[in-house]
Amino acid sequence: MKLRNVYYRVRQFGFSAFMYLAPLRDAKVLSGAGSIYKIPELVKQEGLKKVLVVTTPGFIRRGSLTPFFESLTKAGVSYAVFSEVQPDPTTDCIEEAVAHYSKEQCEAIIAIGGGSVIDCSKALGARIARPKKSIPQMAGLLKVLKRIPNIYAVPTTAGTGSEATAGAVITNAADHYKFTILDLCLVPQYAILDPELTVGLPAHITAVTGMDALTHAVEAYTNRFCSPTAKKQAYEAVKLIYENLLTAYEDGSNIKARENMLLASYYAGMAINSNFIGYVHALAHGIGGLYGVTHGMANAIIMPYVLEAFGDAASKKLSNLAELVGIGGASEQKNAKAFIDSIREMNKKMNIPDKVAELQEKDFKTLTSRAVKEGNPTYPVPVIWEEKKFEEVLKWLR
Ligand code: NAD
Repeated sequence: MKLRNVYYRVRQFGFSAFMYLAPLRDAKVLSGAGSIYKIPELVKQEGLKKVLVVTTPGFIRRGSLTPFFESLTKAGVSYAVFSEVQPDPTTDCIEEAVAHYSKEQCEAIIAIGGGSVIDCSKALGARIARPKKSIPQMAGLLKVLKRIPNIYAVPTTAGTGSEATAGAVITNAADHYKFTILDLCLVPQYAILDPELTVGLPAHITAVTGMDALTHAVEAYTNRFCSPTAKKQAYEAVKLIYENLLTAYEDGSNIKARENMLLASYYAGMAINSNFIGYVHALAHGIGGLYGVTHGMANAIIMPYVLEAFGDAASKKLSNLAELVGIGGASEQKNAKAFIDSIREMNKKMNIPDKVAELQEKDFKTLTSRAVKEGNPTYPVPVIWEEKKFEEVLKWLR
């Protein structure tokens, strides 16, 4: 092994051990239909004077939050609304949210939306805690290191698991570079898993966000240094996804399937908290940033190719996952292939393509260097890759 890779592995082991042993401030979880209506009481108990509800224009247009706003008023909780979050929040969007929060003199954040809304809320919280640091200055590991305002995270996709994670993914408005702020203080105070809010999620968003959760679970587990706890969380998530995603896709009003998908997404988020994501994400962030391909879609397409390219380095664990979901029983290599094939099959059933139509060869250099920069040395992936290997995978994706 190259000396540099030895150094990477030592660093990764250190990070993983730190994330495992550090007293992760897990979000307090409330779940079940109607659990969003417990928020006003929680806010009151904290003695907060005013909260900012962060959401998307769609939720306001559809009027689906009106009963929740009424419940805040009824409980005597003052609130303001910032509803300008677009998919993949940019640094500009965060600054708008910061200005709104400050103007309205808010003291906490209720984030109602997918990963984009929750990440925007985390970055907003980080800017409030560290007013002298810009968002790009907080990119990377442990750059916030200060308590941020309470976040009551209500995921409406299942999903990113952002309601559980210590990360916020932000796109730089200037150069479309997607980066992560990773700090334990970003873990929301509360994760409210209310399946009723995901019932209206269109089938194709259900599909790709569900595959995002699967990517988290698979990457956290196949990564090196996976702790027994992360393994348990990843297994739970994979099982729930295999049992519920297709049902949620085909019958969006199936509350049980929606509830289980929210749980799966939460567990997968917990797994990446201690054991990180991997090269699927490193490529997906670049592709998402450059072409606007949605995050879940990019992960869903890329995942089987990256797992295949890992070869024997991941086959034992992929074989275990095949056994977990009931498609094992053969040799390690055959089981691993069966698991990868089952991902492709699931994509196909949910009309997810198997190539990235937008991908252009002229961008390979940018994408490979961004993937290397993001993945190395941080992600404890099964095999460490350099630019050349990423380029090979990009060729398969066209
Ligand atoms: P999203 O939040 O971007 O939402 C996707 C679309 O679905 C949006 O148009 C949104 O308005 C709509 N939508 C959301 N909920 C809906 C509902 N219930 N009904 C109807 N429409 C609804 O998608 P996402 O996949 O949840 O989040 C993606 C973002 O999260 C990306 O920027 C990604 O990089 C980031 N991410 C963050 C983490 C983390 O740990 N912080 C992990 C993975 C991904």
